[in-house]
Amino acid sequence: MARYDLVIIGGGCIGSAIAYFLAAEPGYGGTVAVVERDPTYATASTPRATGGIRQQFSTPENVEIGLYGAQFFRELPERLAVDGERADIGFKEHGYLLLATEGALDIMRENHACQVALGAEIRWLDRAALAARFPWLVVDDVAGAFFGARNEGWYDPYSLLMAFRRKARALGVTYIQDEASNLELAGDRVTGVVLSSGSRIEAGAVVNAAGARDAARVARWAGVLLPVEPRKRCAFLVKGPQPLPPSPLRFEPNGVWSRPEGQGLLCGATPELEHDPARTDFDVDHYLFEDVIWPTLAGRSKVFEALKVERSYAGHYDYNTLDQNAIIGRWPGFANFYVATGYSGHGVMQSPASGRAMMELVVHGGYRTLDLSRFGVERILKGEPVLETGIY
Ligand SMILES: Cc1cc2nc3c(=O)[nH]c(=O)nc-3n(C[C@H](O)[C@H](O)[C@H](O)COP(=O)(O)OP(=O)(O)OC[C@H]3O[C@@H](n4cnc5c(N)ncnc54)[C@H](O)[C@@H]3O)c2cc1C
Repeated sequence: MARYDLVIIGGGCIGSAIAYFLAAEPGYGGTVAVVERDPTYATASTPRATGGIRQQFSTPENVEIGLYGAQFFRELPERLAVDGERADIGFKEHGYLLLATEGALDIMRENHACQVALGAEIRWLDRAALAARFPWLVVDDVAGAFFGARNEGWYDPYSLLMAFRRKARALGVTYIQDEASNLELAGDRVTGVVLSSGSRIEAGAVVNAAGARDAARVARWAGVLLPVEPRKRCAFLVKGPQPLPPSPLRFEPNGVWSRPEGQGLLCGATPELEHDPARTDFDVDHYLFEDVIWPTLAGRSKVFEALKVERSYAGHYDYNTLDQNAIIGRWPGFANFYVATGYSGHGVMQSPASGRAMMELVVHGGYRTLDLSRFGVERILKGEPVLETGIY
């Protein structure tokens, strides 16, 4: 029977980032395996993500995670190079533009103060400055916007996942194509992972990085409840008759987001709470484009009036029903069972910081760089949310 010092269940961007950080850490001499049932990632969240990265959050940890993510993405071509071949995720630092109504201004100003204090380069553009910088936008209904001048933008999530995976393997991590179907427990320890193929792996420690559709199921094998469920999110690739102007990733006051993609625009909207149960299907909710996204965009600029949907798809947020923030850490009551999930729409941008954080927990037993204790499991067990007002 194979034995690994650490077994990670789920090889998406989170599991693969953790694998990379452990394998790259000189202070860790252990063996690492990633159990991933589908190397094509057909139903995983990561390849379906928009690939945004921002620091415009209200929780200091999320701001700092975003800053580290941007730094990592800039260093990534060299850090994740394999055999001299540089990695490329197409990181575009074109910024996030959060349009702000008068009503939302107080809370957004408070968040902005926190972001700037932590070193994020977010600028306030009042209505006149906004109109001067983006003359094609209708700005009558907003007081202005917060604009990330550096460290914010987007990249290709699938390329990021592949870069982590390729580098982890080059550094000695074993990817096992199989499905974990149960855990073996002895006292306060997880001792092994049972696989659907019928074999099992002996494990020194286990990380649950099984994502939106499976992390709660994996947790149940250890007898614990994880408040993470799949929530469907749809994205639409649209094009107009004329080329669209260059733009940052824009968030409308009603939550509609859009960013340039090739000659067109990738856009989406968060469904209202009553239309947002846990769902695992991939049916596109076309009403979102017809009823919410298109009217919002067309009202924002003439250049969006004649948009046509070229392609659309659905994916799933790993939605943490308590507070929509990451759940990362060792599960209390277990000596060697860890979790990293629940990112609810910002897992890809948070994968570098999550990989580093899990490496520090496993190697040092505590955080050495960024303290993510507030995102630990204890708050879940106590039902004490870390409220983030910058979730979209
Ligand atoms: C439309 C959309 C837009 C998004 N936009 C953004 C964005 O702009 N920025 C951002 O940061 N995030 C975004 N997200 C969220 C992001 O995609 C997720 O938070 C992130 O991908 C989670 O990564 P993961 O590795 O935990 O999950 P996944 O990518 O889902 O990986 C989990 C893996 O675990 C495997 N697995 C599960 N159970 C088992 C098992 N029992 N045995 C073996 N393998 C198993 C699965 O096959 C899967 O490959 C978006 C998501 C969607 C759907």
